[in-house]
Amino acid sequence: MTAISKSKCGKCGNAFNDDELYFQKHSGTKFCKECFIKDTKRKVRKNLGKNILKNHITIGVGISGGKDSLVMAHILNEFFNQIPNSKIVGIMVNEGIEGFRNDGIEKGIKFCEEYGIEYHIVTFSEYIDSDLDSIVAIAKEKNMTMNPCSFCGVIRRKILNRVAIEKGCDYLAIGHNLDDISQAVMMNYIEGDIKKLAILGKSSQSDKFVKRIKPLSKIPEEEVKLFADILEMDYHKEPCPYSCLSYRSEVSDIIDTLEEKHAGAMYSIVAGYERLLEYLEVPESVSICEKCGEPSALKICKVCSFLKDLGLEENSKF
Ligand SMILES: [Zn+2]
Ligand SMILES: [Zn+2]
Repeated sequence: MTAISKSKCGKCGNAFNDDELYFQKHSGTKFCKECFIKDTKRKVRKNLGKNILKNHITIGVGISGGKDSLVMAHILNEFFNQIPNSKIVGIMVNEGIEGFRNDGIEKGIKFCEEYGIEYHIVTFSEYIDSDLDSIVAIAKEKNMTMNPCSFCGVIRRKILNRVAIEKGCDYLAIGHNLDDISQAVMMNYIEGDIKKLAILGKSSQSDKFVKRIKPLSKIPEEEVKLFADILEMDYHKEPCPYSCLSYRSEVSDIIDTLEEKHAGAMYSIVAGYERLLEYLEVPESVSICEKCGEPSALKICKVCSFLKDLGLEENSKF
């Protein structure tokens, strides 16, 4: 019989079997489950800061039913439950992807009902009179080169923003984790897209946009998953059938290799970027989209021009 080796948790000092501890490579700390959960919440709290964690704040939380959005909602809900007159509101957007999105929405509804969180479900159809599956079909028919992910992304963003405004939200929380952000930063570096790099990190000052926050931006994906698994959270695991993230996954592989060899590389990519942001000027979108009236760098914003190309502009509510 082999003896099970025991080690101490670096936080509480209690001894655990090695397989019960999580070793955080970049900090060199071993965590027991309880201390890991506590430490993750501490980091999120620190990331949010006192300006957000206060009275009379409503946070719209984009919920997809995946681990990131549910872990984020779990932590925010716990924080805001303790603050008088502040709350979180779940917002789910159903793009209409057959056989995919419904499970995510179901998981999201189950979560919100269990936690007693107010939630709203909106669909692409309500806003643009069409869903993503139909749009992909129309684009194919019209021989348009369209990347479903980028189309879906801009529409979802616009809808989330609209609902957050309607519900009186002060902030809109998006569940991007450290991996997502380091990938986005690296992609923009590699493409030399400084404008996008600046926009990525700074919020628009326009009152037509609810300020976006990313509470999990300092938590690696691995730890978000661990958090969800320790708490036995029931989240949607399938990848989107349209996921055409080949370039992003190449960048992700490079960062993972770096992280493997140099623990903490992912953190420094994001930390260095944040320092750089202080020197970057955000291009203020001076013009207003002629169709939807929202600030846009172009005469007609990306969403409106997509819809025009697809022949869907007439029934659009934007
Ligand atoms: Zn511990
Ligand atoms: Zn527009």
